[in-house]
Amino acid sequence: MPEIKILPQSLANKIAAGEVVERPVSVVKELVENALDAGATRIVVEIYKGGIEQISVSDNGSGIPRNAVTTVFLRHATSKLATEDDLYKISTMGFRGEALSSISAVAEVTLITRIENEQIGTQLAFAPDSKPQITDIGCNIGTTLVVNRLFANVPARMKFLKRDATETAYITDVLGKIALSNPAISFKYITDGDTIFTTSGDGNLRNAIFEIYGKECAKALIDMDYTADGIKISGVLGTAEIARGNRARQIIFVNGRYVKNYILAKVVEDAYKTLLSVGKFPFFVLNIEVPFELVDVNVHPAKTEVKFADERYV
Ligand code: ADP
Ligand code: MG
Repeated sequence: MPEIKILPQSLANKIAAGEVVERPVSVVKELVENALDAGATRIVVEIYKGGIEQISVSDNGSGIPRNAVTTVFLRHATSKLATEDDLYKISTMGFRGEALSSISAVAEVTLITRIENEQIGTQLAFAPDSKPQITDIGCNIGTTLVVNRLFANVPARMKFLKRDATETAYITDVLGKIALSNPAISFKYITDGDTIFTTSGDGNLRNAIFEIYGKECAKALIDMDYTADGIKISGVLGTAEIARGNRARQIIFVNGRYVKNYILAKVVEDAYKTLLSVGKFPFFVLNIEVPFELVDVNVHPAKTEVKFADERYV
């Protein structure tokens, strides 16, 4: 038998990165979630060439103290969990402390950040497996993360990426959904220099739908608001006019987190059955609010799935 060894940190990080960072959209999702957790009210996402060449996410959140800028790139470094108890009532988007370490294992990363109590900003730049460089930089309070040349050092992963336009489409889809789940936050999304959408962040879901999906869609909505036994379901349902040939615009959030949940989506679809012709799928944006301790968000490394204590009941 070959000798049993503990993997070196750089290799362990690359393996973990495989679960967290599957493609450019995963990076965008993680960075935007960090911005949300930092209390940002304005988030700008800019990508080049499907995010493979560059992804940059800027926020006006809390920023990161200078003495923590290298720590945040270590695996399991997080400010969001302190005790095991916290794991069972997670209210932040992140908690695994894996995103920044994973991303920096498979791309070149530059972090620019400043907190309120520091006069001058901090820039930290590093490439995979090399020593980070820290310099002073003038900047606003908040954080910008720039990720360059994703997977340049992991050719096997690179091969699984699709055309730039397809990777861009994945990002447009997910970012739209995150923006819809946070109508009180202003998002600006730019691809290869073109602004794709800007949301005002006025807190109105219908306005956000208008800004992301356009007028036709925003005109054909019915409000929904229902509470029973501590579970609240609110949002909008599309009329038959805006039903589509696929399920791309079926959006479910659980406590504000966009998730994939086929069972819940199917329940809504079933309710539409008599209203839609075969092959048409309803549009809906629904937020399900349940007490944090009745839902487990720690079931998937990318945090895109959740488990309810009682799914049938929900
Ligand atoms: P997690 O989000 O699970 O805690 P990450 O690797 O995504 O793990 O981030 C590590 C830590 O870095 C976070 O817990 C947070 O303290 C800090 N951080 C990351 N991004 C930002 C940001 N945009 N603004 C402020 N702090 C951030
Ligand atoms: Mg995170």
